[in-house]
Amino acid sequence: MVARVHRRIRLQIPDRVLLVPSLVPASSLREAAEVLAAAIDPYIELAAPDTDVPTLAIGSTEGSIHVGADGFAAEVGRAPVAVSEHPAGFFGGGIGACMGAAALLRLAVGARPVFRRVSLWGFTEGVEAQAGPRRSIGALDVGDLVALIGAGAVGSAICYWLRYIGVRGEWEVVDRDVIELHNTNRGLGMLAADAGWSGGIPAGEQAYKADIAASLIGAQPVRSWYHEWAETMPTRPDLLIPEANDHGVRELVGRLGLPLMVHAATSEMWGAHLYRNGPKDRCVACLFASARNVHFTCAEGQLPTADSESTESESGDAALPFLSGAAGLLVVAALAQLEDGFLESPYNHRRLFLGDQARGSWSNTISGCEHGCRSRPRPSVRTRLNRGHRWTHLDSPDGWNS
Ligand SMILES: [Zn+2]
Repeated sequence: MVARVHRRIRLQIPDRVLLVPSLVPASSLREAAEVLAAAIDPYIELAAPDTDVPTLAIGSTEGSIHVGADGFAAEVGRAPVAVSEHPAGFFGGGIGACMGAAALLRLAVGARPVFRRVSLWGFTEGVEAQAGPRRSIGALDVGDLVALIGAGAVGSAICYWLRYIGVRGEWEVVDRDVIELHNTNRGLGMLAADAGWSGGIPAGEQAYKADIAASLIGAQPVRSWYHEWAETMPTRPDLLIPEANDHGVRELVGRLGLPLMVHAATSEMWGAHLYRNGPKDRCVACLFASARNVHFTCAEGQLPTADSESTESESGDAALPFLSGAAGLLVVAALAQLEDGFLESPYNHRRLFLGDQARGSWSNTISGCEHGCRSRPRPSVRTRLNRGHRWTHLDSPDGWNS
């Protein structure tokens, strides 16, 4: 994420055996980081700084700011924060990476970094941010067929994170678009070569977003717009993750009548937003009509200027990979907790702000649909449509407790 934002960075990384999947072939952690940085930005300078520059220190080492993780929890601190051996460290490590990259960018432009501790276990913060149960994370199992609609910034991030834990069942990734170079600023699964810029020259072929995202998790890529896919859909999915916004897709997906959708978006105030659309939550069409200042595809935010957080100060919009990265990871964390309280929670909207400490709270409840909403079929119709599918029981009268 740092390599997607900064043109000149120095990586000081131990030369250890690489234990996790990498987007580029590499045998050591250091090699993976260096090769990946150049694959993201062929013009990046991996140089030693000639002056004092902001540093982000991971684990028990010293820097300007620090990040560490313990299970589902992560912390950005003024002093070193350890990285524990907790088996769920993928989640804390992931969200810590997003928070750390955000804090480093703020420091680089002279703004105050955000120091906080959060946990993806139950979406909590501060003293409530727990590491979560000490159990290893298996492959995500949320349906025999799962459809990810949209492989842009957030969709790409969902596949990027899922790659570390794997998926069960069949997944389809639906997107008609090809990758442009500017998408690589915020799409965690995308490299310059995918945009046709192999070696920094625009001479190659642009890959399809669906192909690149699907390849990360062994999914089936579908080079179609949502409405084309929906018209010819041979099997109804158990779960659909709407992360596209072309051709009114967010209004259309509601008409499918699935009992549950989980998805995420980013907002200009450096926010990553997670939404649940269960039977009594606001439907995805009503939600989209009512959500202001939320970008459903682009992961852009305002860049703060040196001395102020004021909205009057001069600032430019920037592509912020840690926003789409956090949004994608929120979806994965929610799906991993579907049977650990996520569905029962009164909160159907979680928001993590990476740039403004004042906006602390994770938890929000968006009221249900307006009376007379006709954007999704009635529960009785949905039950019939979805008979035999994984989450159909949620539509039964006693199937939804929130
Ligand atoms: Zn509605």
